[in-house]
Amino acid sequence: MSTPSAALSLEASAVASRPNVQRDAHEFSRAQLEGLMTKRFFYIQSFEIYGGVAGLYDYGPTGAALQANIISQWRNHFIIEEEMLELDTTIMTLSDVLKTSGHVDKFADWMCKDLKNGEIFRADHLVEGVLEARLEGDKKARAAESGKAAAEEVPSEGADEKKTKKKKVKATAVKLDDAVVAEYENILAQIDNFSGPELGELIRKFNIRSPESGNEISEPVEFNLMFDSSIGPTGQIKGYLRPETAQGHFVNFQRLLEFNNGRVPFASAQVGKSFRNEISPRAGLLRVREFTMAEIEHFVDPLDKSHERFDEVKGITIPLLPKDVQESGKTTITEKTIEDAVSSGMVDNQTLGYFLGRIYLFLVKIGIDPARLRFRQHMGNEMAHYASDCWDAEILTSYGWIECVGCADRSAYDLTVHSKKTRKDLVVQKTHKEPKVYDKLVANIVKKNLGPRFKKDAKAVEEAILGLDEKALESLQSSLKNGTATIQAGGQSFEVTPDIVTVEMKTIRETVREFTPNVIEPSFGIGRIFYALLEHSFWTRAEDQDRGVLSLPPLVAPIKALIVPISANDKLAPLVKQVSRKLRSAGVASRVDDSSATIGRRYARNDELGTPFACTLDFASLSKGTMTIRERDTTSQRIGPIDQVIEVIKRLCDGTLTWEGACKELPEYTGQQDLDS
Ligand code: AMP
Repeated sequence: MSTPSAALSLEASAVASRPNVQRDAHEFSRAQLEGLMTKRFFYIQSFEIYGGVAGLYDYGPTGAALQANIISQWRNHFIIEEEMLELDTTIMTLSDVLKTSGHVDKFADWMCKDLKNGEIFRADHLVEGVLEARLEGDKKARAAESGKAAAEEVPSEGADEKKTKKKKVKATAVKLDDAVVAEYENILAQIDNFSGPELGELIRKFNIRSPESGNEISEPVEFNLMFDSSIGPTGQIKGYLRPETAQGHFVNFQRLLEFNNGRVPFASAQVGKSFRNEISPRAGLLRVREFTMAEIEHFVDPLDKSHERFDEVKGITIPLLPKDVQESGKTTITEKTIEDAVSSGMVDNQTLGYFLGRIYLFLVKIGIDPARLRFRQHMGNEMAHYASDCWDAEILTSYGWIECVGCADRSAYDLTVHSKKTRKDLVVQKTHKEPKVYDKLVANIVKKNLGPRFKKDAKAVEEAILGLDEKALESLQSSLKNGTATIQAGGQSFEVTPDIVTVEMKTIRETVREFTPNVIEPSFGIGRIFYALLEHSFWTRAEDQDRGVLSLPPLVAPIKALIVPISANDKLAPLVKQVSRKLRSAGVASRVDDSSATIGRRYARNDELGTPFACTLDFASLSKGTMTIRERDTTSQRIGPIDQVIEVIKRLCDGTLTWEGACKELPEYTGQQDLDS
């Protein structure tokens, strides 16, 4: 088991392993990043040649490899490191399952319509967009008043916005009262906290209209986000494309428990596609209709939510935005160690705190900028009614703070409802160290009298009696003392008498405790993390604003090493093949670029793909067996014997060596080394 300082040093080394280069010579341009994504086929709107469909995206070779590497790191970090039980359950889900889980009735967003032209809006997005635009307009007006150029204050909408189909509301320079500004800011800070009727009230109160047509807006109505389907040729089995992978874990709980020798805590994990028929897909990959999720369900004893590896993360300081701060209309972040956050009660329990720490370490390890990461607690209305606490890992992008990982304590809700519906026990039995002895009221049913008296209703009456709690049993006992009592079953009343049932105090010797475990669920949206990572990695060099560089960490970069022969001379070809084979057998994904482009151009093309290292083979490689290695971010080059360079690259890619460390092992390439040959 590693120590707290091991976890901290892992975090520190993830950050320190980035070569220290100045990346902010030019302002970030989303349009430029998106242009690169399309040109180099990271991802593209699906069915592009048919005009595309909003909210559906295809990943090309580089995007698919980057996504696969993120998932592979996720599997290492969670499933392998924590011995989780991996699942792969079906996407097509029986409607009964989703009815029981509450999705059929409640998995909905609030939608409203332009009353004249029928344009559809997601109600919270509409309110948010209009109020944000009014605040922007206010800033413009104030800037104009103070003589500053408005454009400096308010970034203008570029072609990028149009491309992502984000309906950003146009800001008109109109000054607002200070009190109105404060009220709008307060609403925006808790925009996720409003119910549909409350959004309707805001629409009326602030005279919110359709941004383009200016028409009135309807009252918000609920729209279920699930895609429905039917299973089998006659279509009599109703199904849905799953909106989350979680239900696949819950319906298999009993088998998972058995697999884990009947013990909790344990966690199951699954990576797979989920589907949500979003009302207004927007912001590129951030709100889509089909996406990859990676979900963990950690099953734990409700009376003991400690975590045996808590010590490993408790010293990590994480940025937190608790619910009371948001409810007061603020977004001030508090930095706290996980230990403090749990002991002060801000985070409900150790297991939840443990996962916040693990999520933080994972995101930083794959290249998310820790300065643009925060954990936001759900407010009262936002949280599912059964959840006892919920924190989202949010990442700051050019679209604002985006929820990328949800981490919720779902209590015993899911297992309880599935167990009730299927009448299957989804419980854990824990043997007490010492038997527990206590007195308890118990109902004794006289079955030989119950059947003839109640006939077809006998079973329902029996179940109703067996389901009575301590208080109801007390009342039954006292009623029976007067000769008769009433039992409610299946919506009817039944008279029972002492020849049917008696209630008496018994001494119980309990050797086993039976309980429904609680579930802590970290749920990752891989597409959102993928996009945020691209934004955090993208920059342009001071001397060449037109060419992008993607500073993806070697751990997740799609291709780790580029092999560049210095010329098309046939003599170099066998060596290129040999180096390529050696890199492959060292587990390093590489590509050869033997095109006729200049070497500088070949490097630059691969900087755009995020390839961290380039190996250049020249005539000294033939005569002396040396190879140079160029690091993408610094563009600095080192040299060494081919086998040593390959070994260094291998360690750079598996995260056991930083570029700084590599520079200590390999001398700088001066150009002089070629002349020596
Ligand atoms: P939820 O079950 O709504 O908490 O979602 C879990 C995670 O899935 C979120 O943190 C997001 O990262 C991701 N997610 C949810 N909806 C979408 C969507 N429409 N497009 C992309 N990712 C999504």
